[in-house]
Amino acid sequence: MHKSPIGRALELAYNSGTLTAIHRAQRNRLTVLAYHRIDDPKAPEFCTFAPNVSATPQAFAEQMDLLCTLFNVVSMQQVVAWLEGHSQLPPYAALITFDDGYRDNFDNAFPVLRARNLPATIFLATDCIGSSKPFYWDLAAHCFKNTKLHVAELPVLGTSRWLNDDERQDVALRWVSTVKSLPDSEKQQAAARLPETLDVTLSDRSFADLHLTWEQVCKMQAVGFEMGAHTCSHPILARIPLSEARRQISESRTAIEENTQQPVVTFAYPNGLSSDFTQAHQTLLAEFGFRAGFTLVPGPMSFSRALQQPMAIRRIFIGWRDDLPRFLAKLTGLARLADRLFAGK
Ligand SMILES: [Zn+2]
Repeated sequence: MHKSPIGRALELAYNSGTLTAIHRAQRNRLTVLAYHRIDDPKAPEFCTFAPNVSATPQAFAEQMDLLCTLFNVVSMQQVVAWLEGHSQLPPYAALITFDDGYRDNFDNAFPVLRARNLPATIFLATDCIGSSKPFYWDLAAHCFKNTKLHVAELPVLGTSRWLNDDERQDVALRWVSTVKSLPDSEKQQAAARLPETLDVTLSDRSFADLHLTWEQVCKMQAVGFEMGAHTCSHPILARIPLSEARRQISESRTAIEENTQQPVVTFAYPNGLSSDFTQAHQTLLAEFGFRAGFTLVPGPMSFSRALQQPMAIRRIFIGWRDDLPRFLAKLTGLARLADRLFAGK
């Protein structure tokens, strides 16, 4: 694959041991990895939203091997006990998390983690668990992948044309990112109109294997995986009324507790950037008795900072285009710095 100048610089830093040295200089940090899907977005049968793929199964295994070499992987239980002042965390602490509750977490990530005896936490958007109802981004990707049209009057975007697969994919990405910023009800309405607009017929099987079932959730939990809440229908909290946020937080927790018979004390904010949740949501979580809230504001975080902000713990978003040098650079915080320095170039 053709590499950018930053990509080549990171590769050099990785091969020369510089990245490892930078990592070793940062003992007292909490590094929380944020995964979504473990799958191959290039596979012919893959027709859902590729940007949500964090790694192929093979790349994920390589990342976990590197993580075991350089970090002390801890469980959510250890992190919560530490946040409450009951215990210490080891240096170079790393926590593995997944968002949303995709089926491939069970099929593709779980075996890799089990083989290495690594714990992980999955934040579940509970309306999807055991259901064949897609998230709007997966619905959109499916419709754009399967449409035979070359022009359409799209909800929100209006008249759009594409000549080839690349252009069609660009329109799909633009549609998803535009719709993302709408209020939740308008977003759902726009998504509902998309299959007809793109002349795609959905069947009961279209999204049948997309999400985890409660049985799979319980199987993973039985061997030490932990479950956290991620709302019911995955709205961006800052874009819905506080009363609805309260319902989404509390009902998603209840759904998990009823299905797993285990207490739920952690939460991940949908979309998770600093504009996607407010202090009021952090206060809500604390009132509900949650012990930690996880964002997608890029980490890592020093131990002292995490202890000050247990309801806004930073994480590191992993994407399937990240090779091992970029993966390690992200974990050290260097990739963030490099992107910021070269932004706009
Ligand atoms: Zn999510």
